[in-house]
Amino acid sequence: LLDLTKKLLEIQTILKGIDPAPSTNLQLPNIVVIGSQSSGKSSVLEAIVGSEFLPKGSNMVTRRPIELTLINTPHSPDVYGEFPQLGLDRIRDFSQIQRTLFDLNMSVSEVECVSDKPIELRIYSPNIPDLRLVDLPGYIQITNSDQPPELKKRIHGLCEKYLKEPNIILAISAADVDLANSEALLAGRRNDPLGLRTIGIITKVDKATPSAAVQVVTKNNYPLHLGYVGVICKPPSASDGSDSKALTEAQYYNQHPEFHQAEGKFGVGTLRRKLVKTLEESMSRNLSRLTDAVQSELEETKYQIKVQYNDQRITAESYIADVLDSVKQKFKQFKEEFGKPQVRTEVRDILESRVLDICAELYWNDPKINEFSDQAIQSKTPSWISSLATNVKSTLNSVASFAHIIVSDGKSDDPPSTVLRSATGASSSNTMNGSPRPNMKAGDAGPNKTGDQWDEDKILYWEHRLDRASSVLTKSGVGRWTTQRIVDILMDKVESMINGDPFTNHPDAQKSIVGFSHEILRAKYHSTIDQVENTIKPFKYEIEVEPFEWEKATDRTKKLIDNEISLCRKALQSIRSSTSKKRLNAAIKYVNSKQIPTTPKQHPTERAADISQVGDTSDSSHLSAHSDTTATSEEDQIVSYPHFSPQILRKAQTMVSLRDRLAILYMRRQAINSTVCKSSDNKLLCPEIFLDVVAEKLTYNAALFINFELLHEFFFQFPRALDSQLYYTQSRNEAREFADQNPNVKQHLNLLDRRSKLEEALARLRNLALLQESLNDSKTRR
Ligand code: GDP
Repeated sequence: LLDLTKKLLEIQTILKGIDPAPSTNLQLPNIVVIGSQSSGKSSVLEAIVGSEFLPKGSNMVTRRPIELTLINTPHSPDVYGEFPQLGLDRIRDFSQIQRTLFDLNMSVSEVECVSDKPIELRIYSPNIPDLRLVDLPGYIQITNSDQPPELKKRIHGLCEKYLKEPNIILAISAADVDLANSEALLAGRRNDPLGLRTIGIITKVDKATPSAAVQVVTKNNYPLHLGYVGVICKPPSASDGSDSKALTEAQYYNQHPEFHQAEGKFGVGTLRRKLVKTLEESMSRNLSRLTDAVQSELEETKYQIKVQYNDQRITAESYIADVLDSVKQKFKQFKEEFGKPQVRTEVRDILESRVLDICAELYWNDPKINEFSDQAIQSKTPSWISSLATNVKSTLNSVASFAHIIVSDGKSDDPPSTVLRSATGASSSNTMNGSPRPNMKAGDAGPNKTGDQWDEDKILYWEHRLDRASSVLTKSGVGRWTTQRIVDILMDKVESMINGDPFTNHPDAQKSIVGFSHEILRAKYHSTIDQVENTIKPFKYEIEVEPFEWEKATDRTKKLIDNEISLCRKALQSIRSSTSKKRLNAAIKYVNSKQIPTTPKQHPTERAADISQVGDTSDSSHLSAHSDTTATSEEDQIVSYPHFSPQILRKAQTMVSLRDRLAILYMRRQAINSTVCKSSDNKLLCPEIFLDVVAEKLTYNAALFINFELLHEFFFQFPRALDSQLYYTQSRNEAREFADQNPNVKQHLNLLDRRSKLEEALARLRNLALLQESLNDSKTRR
C-alpha cells in the first residue's frame, strides 16, 4: 500500500547521484548475497529476477560487487536493464546485459583479481519486486596457480565491507554440503552474531534427499531470526529416469510429500516474498535514521555554500555566459581603441621603415652620394645644385668634427680626416665604374671633372635612382605586409584577451577562439591584399606631388632623420660606455689603418645591440631589408688580427660604420633643411622627402581598404562566432563539462547540486514519514 521500498529506492537513486559521495552514511539497507563459489548464488539471483543475466564461467567471473536494483513497473510490460554509470539505457536484450557485466568484471586484471568498485545495474520489469541486492564474489577455499595467494583474503575483506549494518545478509549454502562447513553462515555469524538480519538460503534442494532438505530448512540448527528458505533454481529431471523432461520447482515439491509439512519454507516465490517483507521492514526501521542523516548532510552543505560562495547562485550556463562576456567586454574596448587611425599609424610605421631601408640601400650606401657635395659641379650647374653642394660641404665639415668628438671625447689628436675615412660607407680600395672613387677628405674638392658631362650624367643617374627607389617602395608587396601586420595585431590581441584567468582552465575554448579568429581573418586575407594592391596600382607608374604634400613630407622626414641620428648616437654611446676608451681608440685606429671592412649597411641599433647588448633595439623593426655580411667570413677576418680580441675589433668596426652612417645622416639633415628641398621640383636631390610622399599616398589607400575589408569584418564576425561556437552549440552536459574545467566552479556547482538533491530527498523522506504515521494511526484505530 505504502510502496515504501519503491519510494525509498527512488530516494536512494537520488542520493546515489551526489558527487562526491556524502560523508555521512546515507545508505539504505541492501540485501547482500554471499556464499561459496558454486553454491548457487547466481542461480538464486537469476531466479528472483526471472531471467538469465549474470556472467557464467569457471574463471572467477564475479570480480566486482554488482549493485542490482530491481524496479517493479506494474503499468508497463517493458522489461529492460540500465547501467547508469555507463549511460547505457533500456537494454532489452539480456544477453547483452550479461556480456556487459562480463566485460566490466574482466576489466579487473587477473593479478588484481577483485575490486571494490561496484557495478550498478538496474532492471525494470512488471514481474519483479522492488528490491536492492548486491552480488559479491564467491568465497573460495584454495587459489589456483594463476590466482594471487592473497585472493582468499581479499574476497573475504571485500565481502566484510558489505556485511555491516543495516544490510540484510542472504547466506547461500547448497543442500548437498554440510551446513557446518558453510562459509556464508560463518560470515553471517561474524557480522550478525545474534542472527537478526541474516536469511539462510538452502540451494540445490533437489540434490539432497527430501527429508534431509526439510530437516535442514526447518530445524534451524544454526539459529537465524529470519529463518531459512529452500530453493531449487535449476530444475531437476523427472525422478523415474525414463523421461528426462525437467520438472518445475513446484512439481518437484508436489512429488515429494516430505515438503507438504514444510509449507512456506520452500520455493523461489517464498524467497521473493520473504525478501520483500524483510527489506520493507528494515527500510521502515531505517527511515528516521536516514531522514536525520540527510538533514544533517543538507545543513553542512548549506553551510559550505554560505561560507565558500556567499550563497551565490550559478549554473554551468551562467558561468559560460560570464566567461564569454569577459571576452566581449575586452573585445569591445579593443574595438574602441583600434580603428582606422590606428591602422593608418601601423601602416605608416611599416612604410616609413621601408623608406629608411630604401634610402640606406640606394642612397646612403652609394659612394656616389658625394656627388651631391662635389665642388666641381658648382660652376656649371643650376643654382639649386650649387647651393646643395655648399650645404653638403659644410655638413661634412661639421660631421667630421662631430664624429671626431664622439670617438675621442675631444681629447684625441686624431685629425678629422681619419675619422671620415669611410663616410661614404665604402672602403677606399673600392672603385666605381673603373675610375677612382672620389676622395672624401673633409674640405677636399675631389677630382676635377668637366662640369657639362657631369651634370647630364649625374642627373640621369639620380633620376634613374629615384625611379628605382619609388618602384621598390610601391612594387614590393605593400598589400601583403600591411595586411599581415594588421592580422598579426588582431591575432595578438585575441590571444592576449584569452590569456590568463578564466581561460587557463579552458584550453579547448582558447584553441577554438584562436581557430575561428584565424578563419575569419583567413577568409578576408587575400581579398584585402588584392584590394590594397589594386588601389595603389597607379602609384607604381606615376606620382604627382602637390606642394602641401611635399611640405608635410618634409616635416616628417626631418623627424625621421632626427630619430635615426639619435638612434645612431645612442648606439655609439652604448658601445663607448661598455668598453675601455683607450683600447677602443687603439682598435679604431687599427681598423682604420688596416682598413678592415666595416659593414655600413647594417643598421646602427642592430650592431650596437649585437655587441654591447645594451643598444636600444626598440626601433629595429625596419631592419628586415638589410642583409648582413656572412658571419663566418667576418669572423675569419677578425681572427687574423693578432693584437685585438675579436670583440673589441667588432666594436671598433661598429663604431666606424656608425660614424659613417651618422656623417651621412647629418649631411642629409642639412640637405633637407636647405632651400633646395623646399620644392618638389628638386625631388632628385631630396629622395627621402619624395619617398615619404609616396609612403603617405600608399598609407592612405592601404589603411582605407584594410579598415574596410578586414577590420570591419573581423569586428562584426568575432562576437558572433564567440556565441555560436562556444555558447549555443553546448548541450547541457557539454556546458557542465566546460564549467567543470574550472575547479572552483566545479566545486561550487557540485555543492549546489548536492544541496538540491538532498533537499529533494529530504522532502520525499518527510512525506514518506507522514504517510507511514497516518497508516499506523489508522491501523491502531481499527
Ligand atoms: P555460484 O557460483 O554460486 O554463482 O553458483 P551457480 O549459480 O553458478 O551454480 C553452480 C552450479 O550449480 C551450476 O552448474 C548450476 O547449474 C548448479 N545449480 C544451481 N542451482 C541448482 C539447483 O537448484 N539444482 C541443481 N541440481 N543444480 C543447481
